[in-house]
Amino acid sequence: MASTKTSFHIPGSSRHLPPDKEFHAEHVKIELKVDLEKKQISGSCSTRLVPLREGIRALHLDACEMRIIGVTLDGGKVQFEHDGMVLTTLLPERLALSPHELRVEYSAEPRQGVYFISPDDKFPDKPVQAWSQGEPEFSRFWYPCHDHPNDKATSETLITVPDGNVVVSNGKLVSKVKADGADGWVTFHWKEDVPHSTYLNSFAVGKFGVIEEEAEKIPLQYYFPESKRADAARLFGLTPDMLKAFESLTRVKYPFEKYSQIAVHDFIVGGMENVSATTLTDTRFPDARSEEDYAARYSRPDRNHTELVAHELAHMWFGDLVTAKHWSHLWLNEGFATYFQALYTERKYGKDEFRHDMVSKAETYFEEDDTMYRRAIVDDTYVYADDVFDGYAYEKASWMIHQLRYILGDDLFFRAIGEYLGRFARANADTHDFMRVFEDVSGLSLERYFEQAFYKAGHPEFEVSFSWDEGAQSAELVVKQVQKLDELTPVFTLPCELAFYVPGAGGPSRLARRIQLRSQEERYHFELPGKPMIVEFDPEEWLLKKLKFEKPLSMLLNQLRGSRDASSRRRAAEGLSLFKSDPGVVEALEKAASNEGDHYSVRSEAAKTLGKVGNKQALEALMKLSRVKQRRVRRAVVAALGEFKDAAVAEPLMAALRGDDSPYVQCQAALSYAKAGQKDAFAVVTSAVGTPSPEDAISEACLEALGYVKEPRSREFLREHLPYGQPTRARVGALKAFARLGWLEEVEVALLKDLLLEDKEYAVRTQVLETVSEILDKRLLDAVREAAEKDVDPRAKRRAMEVALRLADASSVEKALSRVKDDLERVKSESREFRERFSSMRLE
Ligand SMILES: [Zn+2]
Repeated sequence: MASTKTSFHIPGSSRHLPPDKEFHAEHVKIELKVDLEKKQISGSCSTRLVPLREGIRALHLDACEMRIIGVTLDGGKVQFEHDGMVLTTLLPERLALSPHELRVEYSAEPRQGVYFISPDDKFPDKPVQAWSQGEPEFSRFWYPCHDHPNDKATSETLITVPDGNVVVSNGKLVSKVKADGADGWVTFHWKEDVPHSTYLNSFAVGKFGVIEEEAEKIPLQYYFPESKRADAARLFGLTPDMLKAFESLTRVKYPFEKYSQIAVHDFIVGGMENVSATTLTDTRFPDARSEEDYAARYSRPDRNHTELVAHELAHMWFGDLVTAKHWSHLWLNEGFATYFQALYTERKYGKDEFRHDMVSKAETYFEEDDTMYRRAIVDDTYVYADDVFDGYAYEKASWMIHQLRYILGDDLFFRAIGEYLGRFARANADTHDFMRVFEDVSGLSLERYFEQAFYKAGHPEFEVSFSWDEGAQSAELVVKQVQKLDELTPVFTLPCELAFYVPGAGGPSRLARRIQLRSQEERYHFELPGKPMIVEFDPEEWLLKKLKFEKPLSMLLNQLRGSRDASSRRRAAEGLSLFKSDPGVVEALEKAASNEGDHYSVRSEAAKTLGKVGNKQALEALMKLSRVKQRRVRRAVVAALGEFKDAAVAEPLMAALRGDDSPYVQCQAALSYAKAGQKDAFAVVTSAVGTPSPEDAISEACLEALGYVKEPRSREFLREHLPYGQPTRARVGALKAFARLGWLEEVEVALLKDLLLEDKEYAVRTQVLETVSEILDKRLLDAVREAAEKDVDPRAKRRAMEVALRLADASSVEKALSRVKDDLERVKSESREFRERFSSMRLE
């Protein structure tokens, strides 16, 4: 795709800083009746607060879209003003610097903050539920509060619901009793004694199955839809092991009274680390068929099913116990939850799996950096607080923490982590606070590193070359940083590991050297006992980087066969695509891909490279590999077969689509079958739509695959799968296909407009935006602008703004396209002229 990068600072952005505080809230008590039928909440919120300054005459609370019924201070009625956003309490006299009780009585039919789920015509089986989502700035839609992370209070939630429902909330369950004076209603009273920020308060109401167990004396509860009972342990089962792992890695005990996880319907994010009570989507339960190679999305095959559970649990330390002072320091929550999930992977599944996980995270970040925008991880200039929940705060930050671990070494790193959590427990921290702890513990001066990692942006793009001086028995390495420098992107100062494998009598020995990179071009000389057969740059994947290291074929083959590190063997497999015509390459790749003892990332990369090699020999190798046992490798083989426009691939791909054990191999087979241009692709992929699979993954993939089948009936089929009522992921698949088809008929423009502006499903509205941003169809500009104004979800609003900017700018794209068209015309006419000349010559 053409570069469509915008600035992170789109128009409408402004600086956001932690707001002034008038008071410190010590305790918040929320008492609400939750009416599932009327979709209404009503009750009160009492805050015990201590003023922070003399002379305060008014108190301000965030209170959005509520009806304020009355306000009392220390039991006496007080005047108030409410503009729909902020509740101002007007005090009769200056507030004494002692604790006061501010009680607000209110009701609301929230559009955000609390979500009511119920059946409708199209989905008569939907469960009846209500659940809250506070982060980042939505608690103010369900209780009046100082809705910013920079204050912490203990809390109580008393939620009254129709009998037969369960309420899960924060802390300990104090009681469950019949509600006063309301027959058929019950009140659940929960209490959280560890102070926490307002966005972490939560509740979820509905009918759920539950499994309870214990880890390190902490009670654990898993709530799930009863229909998922058989799959519940597959999702939640590692929780005790994870809790133990995080206690040991952080050297800090699990900080809260209990840990519950509740999987709710139509959740608007994957998971939310509400204090001691995580809320999760109910779409991630692996079943028996999908567990082994579970992927949250087939387009992200390397994401496994434990990731979400580990990420949210890690937040209990990073985010809940210690909380970023402000959203601009969000990486302190998200970068750490992302990294500790990977650390759990390392502990549980070993180094190869861990490094592969980190490389996948790097790819997520690179994709965002390449196609969306580049920004510093710490950046307080944005439109909505939601804007900073991106690949910078999550994946890139996890890499910056990983590099810090490399710089300090494990012992110092984990000691510093423990110290940081201890020093800021039950409080807030910012990036500087965090850096101070690491400097105190390590004695290292980390200013420069923090500057480039968190306040600058980008990543090094290395070009490395190697040469050998036989006479001097010396290796020379030239390391260049070729990233384009600008005000955000610096030359990086980083340590880096090199490894040389030198042949010896008892086999090759591995010599490691650490260098310090400081400038755009550096040369290093190493005397070695002999000419190395393998030379590696950062083989253990400690640095977030792009790397171009051209090596002779023999060295790559040695590396693929003989490197100690799977990550390095994988890079060798990738590098071999430059030697397409060498017959030994296919043989080596086939051998690597079929090596059952090796990590699947190496084997899959070898299969992928065979696809890039693309000749008859490679095709034959892939055909032989199509029944390889490891599912993830098979998926890569099936993907590689899609690169061949050859009738021979029809048979193995059809077999995979119709009969593979893994639903994700089936997904890939559908995409490859269509991509390979098989004549009967339309019939084959449409007949597989509706095949049962986790979250309708196969339907989504089959519909997406139609994007390769450029026939009018594909469009018709896709249009039929767009309306509300079709499975959500099928709708998303159809929208992806339109992006691939590359243009829209008039009727489709109207359909997409309607979906964008009216659809109930967030996933569909945002996928419309993705599709529009790819095909840059200006007919949708007004609708996209309208979505930026009126969509209820700030994430969709933000994306709509970005897409609107691209569309408005599409005139330049159109110009570029017309230039390409002109060029094409010119080439065509030149070749016509040439042919004419040539034929006239022949005639002569
Ligand atoms: Zn998170």
